[in-house]
Amino acid sequence: MTTYGMVLANGRILDGCGNPWYWGDLGVQEGRITEIAPPGSLTGRRMIDAGGRFVTPGFIDIHTHSDLSILVNRRAESAVHQGVTTQLIGNCGMSPAPTSEAHLAEMRRLWGTISDQPEVDWRWHTFGQYLKTLQNGGLGINIACLAGHGALRIASMGLSEVAPTTAQLDQMKILLDEAMQSGAYGMSTGLVYPPGCYASTEEIISLCRVVSRYHGMYASHIRGERETILEAVTEAIRIGREAGVPVQISHNAPKFGAPCDASANLSLVDEARRRGQDVTVDNDLHTDLAPALTGGLPQQIQDWPAEEISKLLRNPEKRNAIRDEIIRDKKPAFGPAGLLKHGQWQRITMLHAPKNPEVVGKTIQVIAHERGCNPFDSYFDLIVENGHAAEAIFDYIDEKNIRLLLQHPAVMISSDGQVLAPYGFLNDPPPYSPCSYGEFPGVLERYVRDEPVLTLQEAVRKMTSFPAQRLGLRDRGVLREGAWADIVVFDLECVHDRATNLYPHTYPFENFPHEYPEGIDNVMVNGIMVVEGQEHSGALPGKVLRRKNSHSH
Ligand SMILES: [Zn+2]
Repeated sequence: MTTYGMVLANGRILDGCGNPWYWGDLGVQEGRITEIAPPGSLTGRRMIDAGGRFVTPGFIDIHTHSDLSILVNRRAESAVHQGVTTQLIGNCGMSPAPTSEAHLAEMRRLWGTISDQPEVDWRWHTFGQYLKTLQNGGLGINIACLAGHGALRIASMGLSEVAPTTAQLDQMKILLDEAMQSGAYGMSTGLVYPPGCYASTEEIISLCRVVSRYHGMYASHIRGERETILEAVTEAIRIGREAGVPVQISHNAPKFGAPCDASANLSLVDEARRRGQDVTVDNDLHTDLAPALTGGLPQQIQDWPAEEISKLLRNPEKRNAIRDEIIRDKKPAFGPAGLLKHGQWQRITMLHAPKNPEVVGKTIQVIAHERGCNPFDSYFDLIVENGHAAEAIFDYIDEKNIRLLLQHPAVMISSDGQVLAPYGFLNDPPPYSPCSYGEFPGVLERYVRDEPVLTLQEAVRKMTSFPAQRLGLRDRGVLREGAWADIVVFDLECVHDRATNLYPHTYPFENFPHEYPEGIDNVMVNGIMVVEGQEHSGALPGKVLRRKNSHSH
């Protein structure tokens, strides 16, 4: 009988493909699952007793923004503590590569203060160089990467609001080709953010034709998730059809102001699939987001230096013009801005306001009442007083839509978060990002155990083999002999998300600053234990994953 390096014994094994659990021992050797056998039949130099807990594939998070934060925290604390063993980064049009000398400053400005951290040295230019930087310092989890359309566009033409010239578009194609050759899984867009919001459908189709040559995917934060959600889903599907690429519609919950519930956007996806087009969706379970208040301003001014924005907002005529532009929303702004457009001030709760600490925990509606002015003016005044440091929790998604999405077979579970840690720069000040700490345990706790929205095996499928299939990963996301040993052991009865706050909020906030979840006991990445007894081991066994058949390794 073989003695394996490690055996996880007596587990209730969920294979990740949607099948019910079975009892088994799982042997691991040199990073891979070498044997699965009846309980009590395998021996290892190291024996870990799962004691009837669930043993599942590591969770694959198909939508994250850890591109720079993983450089600051290579241990991937908030992700791996949730059981995540692979993340896809480069979403919503933003990846940190490629860059060009001419437009690096614009790129860094879009990424915000993290771009000045010492671990983020911006010494890479090409996509391949960025992937090498990721791999060289070690990683707590595996990372796969998309090329961001915004990065391609900035490298070629900066934050310009016009259409690219033929030469500029050709330049974008050359950069994208290099990214695909280096191992990118496809291209992402963020069509409500600068510079994605300035791109035509045709520009994206012509770039996706490059992606198609490499059998990559197109992932999109679509052009509006509220009033224009159906037109925007239709555009994403058209891009996939005309360019010949599979489509991943990102975090596709309708946001406040949408004319329909999620069944309407999901039926467009069903219709495309019936026609034979590979369109899939991801979504997270949180109803809120906590951006800077300046994020609600029209796209062309939201990234200006704070002093310039304040100057604009102090001019009554210009202030009125900005208010009108927000209400008209001609170039659809991101989801939370719908709360401004529709006057939902009771759904905006202040989180940070260094110059006015007394407003934290209060809604804009209450602040306006106390200040005796109208809520729009209070909102603008808080920006004038605090600049980009003013942040609020925007509760802009109806939980009913989250349930609808969770139950649809073509929807997988993503966090839309990033690697964070409750220490260091990533916690100074602590960002409000419940999805970064609590996404996967939250689904298990709230929508599997406490309320039967999903069966356990279906929830696990949506966290493992389904995103693996989308990425073309044939040997991850499943517990099967020969697959990489990315494995989670958890106790469903004890799983507890300590990061999520439900609307309406009490102050002080219940779960903020965030803490790691409970009940996720062991997490193995490529056969190495990274979380053991809910503690990080310090191991960095993660790999940069490259799309199959890419050239450089
Ligand atoms: Zn997005």
